[in-house]
Amino acid sequence: MTTPMLPSKASPSSASSGFLDPYYDMSSNSQASTAPFSATAAATALNGPSSLPSALRPAFSSPLVSSAASSSPPFVAGAGAPPFAFSSSSSLPSGTMSSSFDLSSFKGEPGGGDGLADNLRAMSLTGQGQNRYSPLPMMMGMGMPPRSAVPPSSYLPPASAPSFGRPAAAAASSMAYALGGGSSVSPSLFVPSPPDPMMTGAAMPTMSSRSLGAMQSMGGVSPPPSAQSPSSNGFFAPVPVSTVGSVTDRDLNEEDPASAGAPFVYFSAQKIPTQKKIANIGSLPFGALISPVKEVDAARPPVLTRNPVRCEMCGAHVNLYCKVAPRIGQWTCVFCTHTNSSSGNYSVDDFGSWPELVVKTVDYVISNPRSGYSVASGVAPAPAPSAILLIDENLSDPYMQELQKSLFGVMEKMPEDTRVGIITYGAAVSVYDLSEPGIASADVLPGSSSPTEEAIKILLYGSGSFLSPIHSCAPIAHSIVSSLRPYRGKAVESERKRCLGAAVEVALALIRGPMGEEESIRNRGDMGLSRILVCTSGPPNYGPGAAPVNEEHPNFAYEEANAKAYLETLGKEAKYLDVAVDIFCAGACPVKVPVLHPLAKASGGLLWLHDDFGETFGGNLQRAVSRVCGTEGVLEVRCSGPVAITRIIGPAEAITDSQEESFPEDIVTSCGMSSVEENQGFVLCMELRDDVSQDHVHFQFVARYVNLERARVVRVITLRLPTTGSASTYLNAVVEDVAAVLIAKRTVVEALTPEDAADMKLSIDERLKDIALHFGTQMKGSKMRKFPSELHRLPEMLFHLRRGALLGSIVGHEDERAVLRNVFLQASFDLSLRMTVPRLLAHVQGGTFEEVPAVNLALQSEVSLVLDHGTDVFIWMGLDVLADEAKSAGALAACKTLALEAVENRFPLPRIVVCKEADSKARYLLARLVPAHKDSPFEQDAWFPKLRTLQPEQRAKLKTKFFHTDDPSFFEYLKSLKLMPPEVPSGFR
Ligand SMILES: [Zn+2]
Repeated sequence: MTTPMLPSKASPSSASSGFLDPYYDMSSNSQASTAPFSATAAATALNGPSSLPSALRPAFSSPLVSSAASSSPPFVAGAGAPPFAFSSSSSLPSGTMSSSFDLSSFKGEPGGGDGLADNLRAMSLTGQGQNRYSPLPMMMGMGMPPRSAVPPSSYLPPASAPSFGRPAAAAASSMAYALGGGSSVSPSLFVPSPPDPMMTGAAMPTMSSRSLGAMQSMGGVSPPPSAQSPSSNGFFAPVPVSTVGSVTDRDLNEEDPASAGAPFVYFSAQKIPTQKKIANIGSLPFGALISPVKEVDAARPPVLTRNPVRCEMCGAHVNLYCKVAPRIGQWTCVFCTHTNSSSGNYSVDDFGSWPELVVKTVDYVISNPRSGYSVASGVAPAPAPSAILLIDENLSDPYMQELQKSLFGVMEKMPEDTRVGIITYGAAVSVYDLSEPGIASADVLPGSSSPTEEAIKILLYGSGSFLSPIHSCAPIAHSIVSSLRPYRGKAVESERKRCLGAAVEVALALIRGPMGEEESIRNRGDMGLSRILVCTSGPPNYGPGAAPVNEEHPNFAYEEANAKAYLETLGKEAKYLDVAVDIFCAGACPVKVPVLHPLAKASGGLLWLHDDFGETFGGNLQRAVSRVCGTEGVLEVRCSGPVAITRIIGPAEAITDSQEESFPEDIVTSCGMSSVEENQGFVLCMELRDDVSQDHVHFQFVARYVNLERARVVRVITLRLPTTGSASTYLNAVVEDVAAVLIAKRTVVEALTPEDAADMKLSIDERLKDIALHFGTQMKGSKMRKFPSELHRLPEMLFHLRRGALLGSIVGHEDERAVLRNVFLQASFDLSLRMTVPRLLAHVQGGTFEEVPAVNLALQSEVSLVLDHGTDVFIWMGLDVLADEAKSAGALAACKTLALEAVENRFPLPRIVVCKEADSKARYLLARLVPAHKDSPFEQDAWFPKLRTLQPEQRAKLKTKFFHTDDPSFFEYLKSLKLMPPEVPSGFR
């Protein structure tokens, strides 16, 4: 093997797309704008290999984007013409919905519906029989898993309810039910969770209208009980039933069917403006963030072991909003209004066997002929995953000792059937034999060039065993890692030889095995997902993929571009073999992020930087092994009415496989998923092509992937939002957390270089001014505008984005910002929100915390604090706390517990830094806090009411702790934009 093989259909555009382009700009489809957006147009524009370069070209490389709407500065309202128009046949005539079959509008009034309502009532009361789809256990399954010892009222505002953890290896655990075939849903799927102690306050819905409400929202969020009492810190206390990943709790009421979505989909508003000119105000974008394959134990969707029913006209999946004709079973598509036959299946008067007509989210799990997996025969044993550790030989002590400890940890935690391999690389590649107990022996291949076919053959057909299940080779693997020695040479770190390219090629050859032909292996289907885990302390600088270290090098630019292209090709080959390459770097030596990143990205892996090879490094290695839950992911979105997807930001890529089926009038927007992981998020930017005449807009999100058992999974999430003609109703329906994340992703995706980042900071200023212009009010006798109070948190959130690590200068090196930026653009809602807006929690006592504004004035000597900034978590101990040994030990323990809990499900694992007041490390924390000491006491009180309790001398003392800085405070910033701070509704702060 001399050059890595590529899948033949790989998009030529992605090869040249360069560093960091995880999004597509759908508006670059504008060449199709004059023609109706017919199925042919859709198919060729989105799927046809020949048109890929233009259709899915990343925006910044497209010559078309300068005129396209979404590529204009995002704050320009309604800029540009619609890039493409839907044909009339795909828009939804009004009156499609019959309320009688419309479950969301059915509030459970007796007699409020006809057949279906009665059916639902019947279902809720009977639930007998194996084929019955019983709502009762479903509801009970929505309880919250036990969480922390931290009282919820002071710890988690509902705005960021945590995602519920589940080892990613069990991602396919929805497979564990072994249905007896047919179309029934096994009641065992909905085994009630053990009662949660925190649920005591919230009454379980009774079998009345509530149960219908709860049932409707199965797979989505359930409506919270009406009582929402602000806790002492002003945040609403989480209501257990509503904390199923919801961000919308505060805005919900039981009548509002738009609460749907979470934990999979988060809309920036719970209502859609009917007017295009409001919806398309670019400064306040409308859109959604979707984590399509998230697994939530508490709200696990029903699993159906049959093929989904789809509209024969547009390809949309049948769903709960479809009107079904009684007796004949015909159903009307909510996206194209086409009437489909159900071959008599839906003619029954009991939909108990058809959960897709009842709930918002369903998983179809289908036999996969390619893998030999068959649902009928039960669950096939999952093919064993492989994990190859690729270890840099150039670590000095104590790094090598730390790394060894981390490697022992990851091997210990590996699922025992994982096939493990150990390769070290320096000037040469050493492949360790895992069949020789007692001694560490390795075959050595040259690192100066790609391994020859001959060398690979000798390796694979030799007597050694280089990839072996960890349960049988653990002692040998242990002794191999123990035998690793630190670097003893004289070279400085950046110049020590690292033949990473050759080493990855050897690793891929091991995973491919002796069978040869890629195609045959792929069809064999018994290959598990694999990972190559690179542990390195420096840049690749030797052999293929080497980039010159010195920028003075005469051919620097050329050689660096070559290295990038080679590593990206290698990453694509890895992806083709279902191998993700994660690159974990640590130490002080710059690793050349721009060169390494294409390898990780093209393979669906992650590049992450660590301070050292210690605990966090080890934790990330462990999580990397089990974070993937599938492969060959495709995300599809269909929207009704004039809603169009203009852009997708996230771990997306061109679709290389052709779609399974085509439909005459498909309106789908789709992209490939570069990896299938629970903790990933895709932002969908939306626009209205026209005013909306309907009462609701429907959305269908479909994720197709092959799970770890090699079965095909199709998750269908169908939601709808009500429309509103009132701007203020719309503003009130905006979910600020989601809107802020959407804005942040749209902003950060443009911040490729430091210069771009500076420009994007200015774009935030313009955005805030534009929102105030459209929605705010002019102050009498002044040039100031008042920011709309409905969005009172947004300015502060965007101010944090502006000065934070993603755009600001608080990280030391541009490489580090680039890595953060990339993680952010792929992150799920929870992590994205925390990376955008830091959250500061003050320890009160006995393990309880209260949220305080993320300002420097919170650094009072008598408190201890936890600052969660997504990828960095700080624990800060005030001097007075430290003075009392017992008190400080208790506070530190409580802070650590809280910090560990906050990061429990995150990937990458954040670093946790403990610092003391006046400690030099505390400056990293201080840089993330707003310098509120510059504000007037009145402004400080408004923002941080707790300061009012301080005595004047205490207050003066606090202020003297902080030095002069040019960094503006929040109020100074707003004044510079001629904005009056929004009124904060009572109940907040
Ligand atoms: Zn249709």
